[in-house]
Amino acid sequence: MINLLDFNKTGLIHFCEEMGEKPYRARQLLRWVHQSGKTEFMEMSDLAKTFRQKLTECAIVRLPEIVSDHTAGDGTRKWLLATGAGNAVEMVFIPEPNRGTLCVSSQVGCALACSFCSTGRQGFNRNLSVAEIIGQLWWANRLLETQADKSSSPDAAHMRMNHTETRRPVTNVVMMGMGEPLANFENVVTALDLMLSDDAYGLSRRRVTVSTSGLVPALDRLRECCPVALAVSLHAPNDALRDQLVPINKKYPIRDLLAACERYLPAAPRDFITFEYVMLKGVNDSVELARELVQVIKNIPCKLNLIPFNTFAGSGYGRSGADAIGNFRDVLMQAGIVTTVRRTRGDDIAAACGQLAGQVQDKTRRTRICGSTQAMNAG
Ligand code: SAH
Ligand code: SF4
Repeated sequence: MINLLDFNKTGLIHFCEEMGEKPYRARQLLRWVHQSGKTEFMEMSDLAKTFRQKLTECAIVRLPEIVSDHTAGDGTRKWLLATGAGNAVEMVFIPEPNRGTLCVSSQVGCALACSFCSTGRQGFNRNLSVAEIIGQLWWANRLLETQADKSSSPDAAHMRMNHTETRRPVTNVVMMGMGEPLANFENVVTALDLMLSDDAYGLSRRRVTVSTSGLVPALDRLRECCPVALAVSLHAPNDALRDQLVPINKKYPIRDLLAACERYLPAAPRDFITFEYVMLKGVNDSVELARELVQVIKNIPCKLNLIPFNTFAGSGYGRSGADAIGNFRDVLMQAGIVTTVRRTRGDDIAAACGQLAGQVQDKTRRTRICGSTQAMNAG
């Protein structure tokens, strides 16, 4: 059975042609599946009966299964999706007064093994399929729409308003869940294409963000084929420190990464890059390192997002104190770099950055210990 959720418009046109159908059928299918949320071909009333019959025989709209659903005290909602063989990934919805952001996973685990990241500690199992990536957005919109219809809470009222204004509860997507999106390039780009397509989710490029730890060749490819908003996980101003925190830095050091950012900017939907910087107590949070960071990024139009470290069992790191974060931010701000401190959301249900763990049967542990990680081959 062919899963139609695996196709973007180009793929569906191809599929329709192979079925002997006109290309415009692809647009109808996209709208039924992604906009109306239909999974049963017989309900797709403007398709010819014979075509519907043929679809029932050879195709399916198969979504990942939701296995749990938790809402945090601050309204952040986290779902666990089964991805087979005992694996699961997480997605998180963050409601805010004027937008709703979905944090989407791209891989089961992650091979890049950043030392402060819960997903990285779990190792890597496999890439998510297009259906599993776009299925997260499909599900979130459905589940949140149902909630907005049933509930009369202020948040729900806002969602209803959004629903008429922008049609759907999810207004922004960040590829900041489990996994390194650029290490699953083809599937992520196909899913991004669906997010942007007017016949599917119709999000603007500025509202879709890819976060990467810095796979330079893949970053260049993204610029060429799907330049959405970009967040780069920097976390340190020099290679010696970044090598320890983000091991992929040994392959693509800061200088090469920043050069790729500069190449990206002309194609980017925003005129700046976001640099993410996790604040690890006593590791990368000193005022001296803040000054060094200013020198490193001052020539790149950017914003800096400081992320207070989110703890998890056995991490070995601590969260920087409010003073350290404030002092660090002041150095950057005084140098004219717009710097925000990310508000930690949903940490009572372990839904904050870097706490997403899902369930990952690691397939790389042995090679990882030998030091030649899948990550080193990625991109
Ligand atoms: N692999 C991509 C996207 C997923 S991680 C990347 O690394 O950019 C999303 C963000 O959360 C990254 O900036 C990552 O460095 C950060 N992060 C990871 N673990 C964290 C933790 N424990 N606390 C705070 N932020 C963390
Ligand atoms: Fe992977 Fe990103 Fe975690 Fe690093 S921070 S291990 S790249 S998910």
